[in-house]
Amino acid sequence: MFKKILIANRGEIALRVIRAAREMGIETVAVHSTADADAMHVRMADESVCIGPPTSTNSYLSIPSIISACEITGAEAIHPGYGFLSENANFVQIVEDHGIKFIGPSADHIRTMGDKITAKETAKALGIPCVPGSEGGVPDLDAAKKVAADMGYPVIIKATAGGGGRGMKVAQSDKELENAFRTARSEAKSAFGNDAVYIEKYLTTPRHIEVQVFGDGKGNAVHLGERDCSLQRRHQKVFEEAPGPCISEKERAEIGAICANAIAKMGYEGAGTIEFLYENGAFYFIEMNTRLQVEHPVTEGIFGVDLVREQIRVASGLPLSFTQDDLQINGHAIEVRINAEKVPQFSPCPGKITQYHAPGGLGVRMDSALYDGYRIPPYYDSLIAKLIVHGRDRPEALARLKRALSELIVDGVDTTVPLFHELLDQEAVQTGQYNIHWLEHWLNATYGKA
Ligand code: ADP
Repeated sequence: MFKKILIANRGEIALRVIRAAREMGIETVAVHSTADADAMHVRMADESVCIGPPTSTNSYLSIPSIISACEITGAEAIHPGYGFLSENANFVQIVEDHGIKFIGPSADHIRTMGDKITAKETAKALGIPCVPGSEGGVPDLDAAKKVAADMGYPVIIKATAGGGGRGMKVAQSDKELENAFRTARSEAKSAFGNDAVYIEKYLTTPRHIEVQVFGDGKGNAVHLGERDCSLQRRHQKVFEEAPGPCISEKERAEIGAICANAIAKMGYEGAGTIEFLYENGAFYFIEMNTRLQVEHPVTEGIFGVDLVREQIRVASGLPLSFTQDDLQINGHAIEVRINAEKVPQFSPCPGKITQYHAPGGLGVRMDSALYDGYRIPPYYDSLIAKLIVHGRDRPEALARLKRALSELIVDGVDTTVPLFHELLDQEAVQTGQYNIHWLEHWLNATYGKA
C-alpha cells in the first residue's frame, strides 16, 4: 500500500480523499493555489504545496507544478478527484512516465471514453445499447441534414469533446438545424478547442440513469447499481438519488451486468460511470465518465462501501474488496448540490461565510470544505457542499433531507438551499415522477423564463 498520496484537487472532494486516506493510514499532500492558502483541504492534509496563482490554468491544471509537488514531497500516487485533470489522458501519461501511480484508469481508457464518438463506438462494440445517431462525426450542414432526415426530428447536436453540458444544441426542424449546427460547433471550439460534433436522436421525456462500475484492471469488475440524476438545470445535475425510483430489480441486474461485463472486457481499472438516458423501459448510452462522480456518496450510502478507499486499494494492486454478491442495496439515499449561487438567476455568489452550521443526526452526511469565516474565492466552481441523506426507504430519505436542510446554516452568501426547500414540496419530487426536463419547466413556471 502507498505511504503517501497527493490530491490534485480542492474543496470537498479533496477532503473526501484525505478522509479515506487517513483511515487507511496513508499520509496526504494537498496542493493549492495562492487563493486557497486558507482552504480546509490545506489545513486537513498532512502536508501542502502551493502550486501557483489563483487561476486554475496556472495552478490546479498546471501539470509541471503538480508533478514537482509530488517529487518534492515523495508522494507515490496522485488522486485527481473530479473535474480539473481527472479525465486528462495526457496528464495520466506524464504522471506514469514519472513513476508516479495515477489513482484511476489508464491513459488509453480515458482517451477512448473522452472522445464521445469513440466512446459510443466502443460501447456499441461491448454490447451497451446506445442512442440512435450519426455514425461518427458530422462534417457539415448537408451531412447533418441527411442524418436528421433519416432519423426524424427532434435531434441534438453534441460536441465530440463535450462535457459539463456544454456544446449541445437541440433542433426541431431543418431550419433550426442550420443555426443549431453552427452554434454547437462554435461553442465546442471555444469551450474545448475542437469543433467536431455528432448528432443524436433527441429523446423528449427520458430520465438520466447512470450505472456505477468498478474494475480491478485485471479483468474483474462489478456494478453498484444506478443513480437517477434526472433533476438537472442546463444539463447539470442538482439532485441525485439511488436507487432510481423507476428502475426495477430486474432492469438493474440486466443493465448492471451489461456494464460490468463491458468494463471487465476492457480491463478497466478503478471507478467509472456509464451514463444512460432511460425512456419507455429502454436504456440508451450517452457517455462514460472515467473518474469518481460528484454524486458517488448516494451509492456509498445504499451499499455501505467507501469508493475512494476502493480506488486507492485497486491502484495499489490489491483486488476488489467486494464481489457482486456482496453488494446488496440497503435503503435509499439522496444528495443535493449546494452552490454559492443566487436563485433564480443561479449567478455565482462568492464571499465570506459569516456563520456555518452543518446538519447532523442519523443518516446525514455533509461533504463540504466550508468553515466559519471562510472566504469562497471567485475563481472556481460554485459547489460549496453536498448534503447526502440515507433512509430505510425513499419517503424516509426525503423527510430526512427536509429536516437536515432546515438545520443547515450558511450565512454571508446566497446559496441554492431555498431551491431545495421548494423542490421538496413539489409532488413530482415527492413521487419521483420527473424526467430530465422537469426542473427547467418548473423553474420557468415558478420564476419566469431565465
Ligand atoms: P456532458 O458530457 O456535457 O454532461 P452528456 O452527453 O452526458 O453531456 O449529456 C448531458 C445531459 O444532456 C443528459 O443528462 C441529458 O439531460 C441531455 N442529453 C444528452 N443527450 C441527449 C439526447 N440524445 N436526448 C435528450 N437529452 C440529451
